[in-house]
Amino acid sequence: MPSFATSPGTRDILAPDSARWRQFQQVFADVVETAGFAHIIPPMFEDLGVFLRVGESTEIVTKEMYDFEDKGGRRVALRPEQTASVCRAYVEHRPVTPWKVWYAGPNFRYEKPQQGRYRQFDQVGVEVLGVDDPQLDAEVIALAMEFYRRLGLVGVQLSLNSLGDSGDRDRYAAALRVHFSSHIDALSGESRVTLERNPLRVLDSKRPEDGALIAAAPRMADHLSDAAAAHFVAVQSSLRDAGVAFVVDDRLVRGLDYYRRTTFEFVSTSLTAAHTAIGGGGRYDGLVADLGGPDTPGIGFALGLDRTLLACDAEGVFGAPLSRVEVFVVDATGGGEAGLICGQLRAAGIGADRAYEQRSMKAQMKSADRSGAPLCIIIGDDERTGNTAILRTMEGGSQQTVQRDDLVMQVRRALGR
Ligand code: ATP
Ligand code: MG
Repeated sequence: MPSFATSPGTRDILAPDSARWRQFQQVFADVVETAGFAHIIPPMFEDLGVFLRVGESTEIVTKEMYDFEDKGGRRVALRPEQTASVCRAYVEHRPVTPWKVWYAGPNFRYEKPQQGRYRQFDQVGVEVLGVDDPQLDAEVIALAMEFYRRLGLVGVQLSLNSLGDSGDRDRYAAALRVHFSSHIDALSGESRVTLERNPLRVLDSKRPEDGALIAAAPRMADHLSDAAAAHFVAVQSSLRDAGVAFVVDDRLVRGLDYYRRTTFEFVSTSLTAAHTAIGGGGRYDGLVADLGGPDTPGIGFALGLDRTLLACDAEGVFGAPLSRVEVFVVDATGGGEAGLICGQLRAAGIGADRAYEQRSMKAQMKSADRSGAPLCIIIGDDERTGNTAILRTMEGGSQQTVQRDDLVMQVRRALGR
């Protein structure tokens, strides 16, 4: 028989990590729903055209897209991110603005798998459509920082930049093209290719040989229109008012073509691998119009769940939650009693588990240990005939005999509830 393992870049998320994932999304939901965001669940695949709007010159579109023709001859793609889907949904449903939504779920990118980089990876994120106000930019950023705080993370650095509006961005790209082209011999082969497609992305090159040329490149700050510059100043001042620390990094360009004006990235200072970016976002004021909708400003962020949990591991915070089993029922009389007691406890909202196959007392006690339950109940022949039960504290091993009729109450008391 053939045996199978997961495809490269995908993983099974097993317990207790799976519970940690769920809790991660729950904490996120708490933070953003408190701020007025509503949940949206976009489909996992869409017309390829939706994602092409992310940018013809980005790796996501050129190299990483899981696209295919379905049996009906439609060209579709697994979503590589969710911002484009949210904007498509906005155009399709025309909700009232401001439209504030949050999402959580997997995305798919054909990347080289490694620590912190997977082909199926999860994100949580928010988008706000229909508001052009620098105070919102700051609020959205502060929301992400509040989420990190709720996870217990302290080593998160916020980098901030403005890419200007589309005119500024085009003029800046032209200036970069002139700069890099006139020193083309000093540029790495890889960056020469990037230069052809998107001069801004050359600034993102981590190749040492490009370092000097990048340092000498024209600066975005010198190419901002008055309006974009004023917006950027206002965002910074709102962030200061909110007590959110940041560094302005005018080399921060980010991967997606659709960003305008405010862009930002969250970096974990406790991750040492190459992939320290745990989230990012920005304004994408042209995207809704690109998808056939009315001119609508938008801003949002996406936070990588997988990498953020690696950062939590590195900082020793937000550990996996404990087992939900509070009581393990050991039944030496055949198992029928264990079934009844578990049913009673569960109905009372108390986590309960048991063993099967009439295992020996010793084997059942071992299972009780492994379950992580703080309490166990033991039923032997004497307890069954006497209508009693032994209630035992796993740690320390102290035990008492209680009446079956009082069992639920006694368990509650022992659990301190
Ligand atoms: P990178 O430069 O690391 O490829 P990106 O710019 O492609 O990141 P975004 O599209 O902005 O990333 O997504 C936001 C966050 O999602 C990233 O900061 C990262 O934490 C996470 N992320 C992106 N791609 C992956 C991946 N392949 N595996 C795991 N997490 C990812
Ligand atoms: Mg990427």
